[in-house]
Amino acid sequence: MPHIVEARGLTVRLGGRVVLSNLDIGVKSNTISVIMGPSGSGKSTLLRVFNRLIDLNPEAEVSGVVRIMNRDLYEWNPYELRRHVVLVQQEPTPFPNLSIFDNVALPARLNKVAGSRGELERLVKWALESVMLWDEVKDRLEKPPTILSGGQKQRLCMARALALRPEILLLDEPTANIDPANTVKIEESLKALKNDVTIILVTHMPHQAARVGDYVYILYGGRVVEEGPVNDVFIHPRHEVTIKLLEKGG
Ligand code: ADP
Ligand code: MG
Repeated sequence: MPHIVEARGLTVRLGGRVVLSNLDIGVKSNTISVIMGPSGSGKSTLLRVFNRLIDLNPEAEVSGVVRIMNRDLYEWNPYELRRHVVLVQQEPTPFPNLSIFDNVALPARLNKVAGSRGELERLVKWALESVMLWDEVKDRLEKPPTILSGGQKQRLCMARALALRPEILLLDEPTANIDPANTVKIEESLKALKNDVTIILVTHMPHQAARVGDYVYILYGGRVVEEGPVNDVFIHPRHEVTIKLLEKGG
C-alpha cells in the first residue's frame, strides 16, 4: 500500500547542525501514527518539514526525498500544501481578535472550503463537534477565544485546522500542557477522526500512544530507531531508547 506521507534518506541541517539524519518513515492513510522520542530527537522538526516550514529558515539545508500524497514535497505550492497538511503546534494560538466562530470559519472561507453562510455554519459546527467543543461554546460563538481554558483553546485550534478538511493532521504534543478532562476529549476525538484524516501525533506519553496509536515511530538522534504497530513495539521493545521511554511512563 502506498504511503500518504513518506520520507527517504531525509537529512536536515539547521545552522550547520544535523537535526534529522538519513531518516526513513512511511505513514499509511487513515491511521494514527505516533512519533515518540527524547527531547531534541527531531520530532518537531520532522513535522515542520512535512508542513514546509523548514524552508522558511535560510540556515536550513534539506536533502533526501519527501513525498506527500504521492507528490514531491517541493512540487507542492506551500500554501496549497498547508490546506491539505495542517500543523497544530504545541502552544494553542487562536486568533485573539476574532470570535470563536470566526477562528474556525475564516481560514476555511479564505481557502474556499465553504462559500455561503449556511455552508460555513455547518462546517464550523461539524469542526467544533469533531473536537467535542460545540456544546461548550455554541451559546458563546461571538465571544473572543480568550474566555476559553487552555484545553478548550487547543481544541479550538484543532477545529480551525479540521475546518480546512485536510487529508493530514500533524499534532505536536497537543496535550502537553492540558488537564486530564481535556486530554480525554482530544484522544476520543482523534480516534473518531481517523476515518476522515490521517493523523501524525507527537507525544511523550506512552499511555496516550497506547490508547490512540496504530503505529509508533521512535526517534533518536534524528533518525527512526524502532517502529511498528504500537502493541508490538510496546510489548516487545527492542531498542534501549524505546525501553527508556516506556519506563518513564506518562
Ligand atoms: P524535539 O521536538 O524532538 O524535542 P526538535 O525538532 O525541536 O526536537 O529539535 C531537534 C534538535 O534541533 C534540537 O537539538 C534543537 O536544539 C535543534 N534545533 C531546532 N531548531 C533549530 C534551529 N533553528 N537552529 C539550530 N538548531 C535547531
Ligand atoms: Mg518538539
